[in-house]
Amino acid sequence: MTRSLARSNAHFQNAITRLPLGVSSNFRYWGDDRTIYARRGKGARLWDIDGNEYIDYRLAYGPCILGYADPRVDEAARAGMEVGGVFALGTEREYTVAQRISSMVPAAELVRFSNSGTEAVMAALRLARAFTGRDSYVTIEGGYHGVFDAALWTTQVEDWRPASGDPHLVPYSAGVPNVLRALVHAVPMNDADRLESVFKAYGGQIAAFLIEPIMGNCCSISATREFVHAARTLCDKYGIVMIIDEVKTGFRVARGGCQELFKVKADLCTFAKAVANGYPISVLAGREDIMRRLGKGVVHGGTFTAHSIALAAAEKCLEILAETPALQTIADYGTKLRAGISQILSQRGIRHSFSGHPSMSGLFFSEQPPRDYRDWVNSDYTFYEALAPELHDLGVLCEPDSREPWFICESHDARCLSDTLAAFETAVDRVVNQARSPEPAHGTG
Ligand code: PLP
Repeated sequence: MTRSLARSNAHFQNAITRLPLGVSSNFRYWGDDRTIYARRGKGARLWDIDGNEYIDYRLAYGPCILGYADPRVDEAARAGMEVGGVFALGTEREYTVAQRISSMVPAAELVRFSNSGTEAVMAALRLARAFTGRDSYVTIEGGYHGVFDAALWTTQVEDWRPASGDPHLVPYSAGVPNVLRALVHAVPMNDADRLESVFKAYGGQIAAFLIEPIMGNCCSISATREFVHAARTLCDKYGIVMIIDEVKTGFRVARGGCQELFKVKADLCTFAKAVANGYPISVLAGREDIMRRLGKGVVHGGTFTAHSIALAAAEKCLEILAETPALQTIADYGTKLRAGISQILSQRGIRHSFSGHPSMSGLFFSEQPPRDYRDWVNSDYTFYEALAPELHDLGVLCEPDSREPWFICESHDARCLSDTLAAFETAVDRVVNQARSPEPAHGTG
């Protein structure tokens, strides 16, 4: 490692004495001597407590759609602070923001606010179960929908081989009750036949089909439009609530999220990350007949829901996304970034491909991006895993795990692009040289 993380490392030794893993989310721990502590962010750049500067493509896993400390949103948030926080009462602005969301997302006939993506998806699932009177749900292999027990299931593909049958469904976490396994079915992305066979076999028990059409936690593996439409038809046929989880894609890949891109309407949909440029707020929205069940036997609430700071930030952020070309700027940058990366890799004869949307790209070292999570095992993610730390050293902050896409914000500018591509070229050469040389190509720090 060429940059110094001395202060982060020293802080880690303090933090670990009071905070498990020295952080407030497991995903922020990158190793005892690799965990970075942020000092501040501005625009597309982030500084750690050692003073290292990074062009950030993690953006807090997506929320900072405009960039850190956006003055327009922060000013609105400050005005929201004057309102007083939370009252255990509604405020007028909830209606204003709900109106905005409905105008951007046709499926959002009615809207409820929560604080996190987890809460929104949890509520969507509960509502679907109440509406259908069924308990099971079907999801897509490799998906992630938050840290609540019912959703903490994944298929283990790392050491899976096709000959061994379907990969096992395993809990993401210890402490997830085993009894919940029986309520979850997972199917590979883009396999409508498989989906139908599960619906056929268990349709009477299945409340919901939960899908993130561009998998923001799985390399941005994407559904085909045919698959999404087939799933829509099958959900209607079997009376299953289609939940489109747009926690990452919402107000990012298009004003109307994946639903606009794929021209599909969910029964229920969830949003969080880009709603308020990083202020904590999430959205459960959907069909009126389903949403009206809230309060009629279905519980939803929370002390901090629709907090005046987050709500004011959401109002401003959504206004910007709806009324300015911000999302086009973001997509254009993502397209240029892909082109630049592609040129560097092609010049070196390195096979690669991209998946997802230019605003949240997955990068693969294989000719075709994976079609589903099973396919992902065949892509050479070891090259990515060697590349990421080199990029960090060179001031480009991408997620070390290849399953996380590269997020773009409105503040990524021409300078960010040229700096990123210069660093990318150097990082690729370092990895290639390391692979050729038995000795480390540079200091280990
Ligand atoms: N759903 C999806 C698709 C997500 O990507 C995430 C988080 O990354 C969640 C739900 C959970 O959101 P949160 O971390 O805000 O609880």
